[in-house]
Amino acid sequence: MSMVDRQEWDVVVVGAGGAGLRAAIEARERGARTAVICKSLFGKAHTVMAEGGIAAAMGNANPHDNWQVHFRDTMRGGKFLNQWRMAELHAREAPDRVWELETWGALFDRTKDGRISQRNFGGHEYPRLAHVGDRTGLELIRTLQQKIVALQQEDKKETGDYESRLKVFQECTVTRVLKDGARVSGVFAYERESGRFFVLEAPAVVIATGGIGKSFKVTSNSWEYTGDGHALALLTGAELLNMEFVQFHPTGMVWPPSVKGILVTESVRGDGGVLRNSDGKRFMFDYIPDVFKEKYAESEEEGDRWYDDPDHNRRPPELLPRDEVARAINAEVKAGRGSPHGGVFLDVSTRMPAEVIRRRLPSMYHQFKELADVDITAEAMEVGPTCHYVMGGIAVDSDTAAARGVPGLYAAGEVAGGMHGSNRLGGNSLSDLLVFGRRAGLHAAQYATGSATRPRVDDAQVDSAAAEALRPFSAEGPAPSEGEIRPPENPYTLHQELQQTMNDLVGIIRRESEMEQALKKLAELRGRARRAGVEGHRQFNPGWHLALDLRNMLLVSECVARAALERTESRGGHTREDFPTMDRTWRRINLLCRLTDPTGGLAATDPVRGQITLSRETTEPIRPDLLALFEKEELVKYLAEEELCE
Ligand code: FAD
Repeated sequence: MSMVDRQEWDVVVVGAGGAGLRAAIEARERGARTAVICKSLFGKAHTVMAEGGIAAAMGNANPHDNWQVHFRDTMRGGKFLNQWRMAELHAREAPDRVWELETWGALFDRTKDGRISQRNFGGHEYPRLAHVGDRTGLELIRTLQQKIVALQQEDKKETGDYESRLKVFQECTVTRVLKDGARVSGVFAYERESGRFFVLEAPAVVIATGGIGKSFKVTSNSWEYTGDGHALALLTGAELLNMEFVQFHPTGMVWPPSVKGILVTESVRGDGGVLRNSDGKRFMFDYIPDVFKEKYAESEEEGDRWYDDPDHNRRPPELLPRDEVARAINAEVKAGRGSPHGGVFLDVSTRMPAEVIRRRLPSMYHQFKELADVDITAEAMEVGPTCHYVMGGIAVDSDTAAARGVPGLYAAGEVAGGMHGSNRLGGNSLSDLLVFGRRAGLHAAQYATGSATRPRVDDAQVDSAAAEALRPFSAEGPAPSEGEIRPPENPYTLHQELQQTMNDLVGIIRRESEMEQALKKLAELRGRARRAGVEGHRQFNPGWHLALDLRNMLLVSECVARAALERTESRGGHTREDFPTMDRTWRRINLLCRLTDPTGGLAATDPVRGQITLSRETTEPIRPDLLALFEKEELVKYLAEEELCE
């Protein structure tokens, strides 16, 4: 019998970013005893780094905005591959979620007449992003944390214990979701500081672990984004949807090397920043795709007029969706028109007075001054694409956020798939995680408190999770030949090779032969990762933590590579050099990844075929009243022939 500590909860939320915290608040308010567990410090999640704002059609900056326009923009941005019901719920509910934040104490920037200010962002027809300078995520997380503290204070009054109904376990990593038969029974985790194992038993688990960026070399993501939630879902028997769609944000820092990939917020372009190549040309005018031609300015003059008079001019092409801008930058650099350090120039200094730049973009000003010794009020920044966000994720029910096929498992935020289709619009993540975080918390609480019997945690599963976690301490190198003794594999070396492979072979522009090469390399790395070994003990041991994260990164990377090889078209965050155009017949197809070995074991899987099985699913037809929001001429560009006939 396992000696691991156990606690009983109704709902366990894995992840304390915006999605996790919003889910936890909802679950607790619905009467479920709720535990939140997070890999890093409480409050230090990607959400806190979000700069630009929360997209919500409040109509404060332009009264023509409404949920229908937001829905249309989101579907266009995602190239119509979005789970349309999620896009609808998101557009309808985002304004309420922003209002709610305000009632919980969030202090948004204001318009002159005192309403919540909204700024422009790529792909959004009207200024729509509610923001706090360029530190919106910080305010969002601060507000949600404050709400959690308020709930804990209520609980203290009633029960004498702050943590009786809502408790945060920080710096703890979940390595397995446990099951009782088909349904979820809890999670297995370790405390990073002490290495101690523990189990949180619960009928419902909400996964809100964010992204996968750390599988790529150049990324805006921080250390904890190793695709854990995606992998946990696969290992629990759930499916991942459309994992080929990875967003490369067009503007990451390119210099100096130590900060390569760090994000340069889209607000810089939203507020008037322009992209130029080494000839000084505003090159984005050459890259407006046909599907967007009617919506974007044809000349610099028209684009510039739009900032003051958006009703009578079209927006500048610097504000095209991110996939388009990233590809354009990539093409300019490849054509030899890049900046000295392999990016292009992003200039705000000639567009706004210095004090306005410092007021509207304070983080960017300090980021460039401190990290690159560049004064953005006086000179242009150098920027290039960086792996930023994953549109693919856990396949969920649109209304309830329940992971398909695993009772008791829920997912929200970046880890959930479908909402953004093939490409996410900026600002739509913060709104997504509020809308679906709330829904996940609500439905997880209802499920957990409504279950007639609690699931039982199986000791054998706990023991095997503990053995799996301890394996790196006893790992052995490959069989020695002729007396040679080889050490175990170094997790850092494996991680670097993985990042290089994904960056070079499954990156922003993809080719069949390179992805096949990537899959072979992933198979090799998988074999070597089973022999990843570490020295020392369980007390704060980052090498050990990385050795455990490798399992997740390898699983997720294989999903991305397999799905990217299968989808023979270019759409949103998936660009195939050998299939350069969008193919309308592919609009109806979702690609689903699941674990080949349904028992969740990894060792037994075929070393060449891999661990992942891919299948196709026909997308659900878009509801007629939502289709009616678009002109027929536009639908013809996206929908397959049979859909148009229907
Ligand atoms: P996160 O906020 O990423 O939180 C994930 C949580 O899961 C963390 O607490 C982490 O510790 C925890 N976790 C992970 N694995 C485990 C595990 N195994 N066990 C326990 N806990 C685990 N979006 C916008 O809409 N607007 C913006 O302006 C914007 N700017 C951005 C700027 C930057 C620099 C970055 C990186 C992203 C930005 N985004 C923006 C995207 C957006 O911030 C993220 O997509 C979003 O915050 C994800 O939220 P989340 O709640 O899903 O996960």
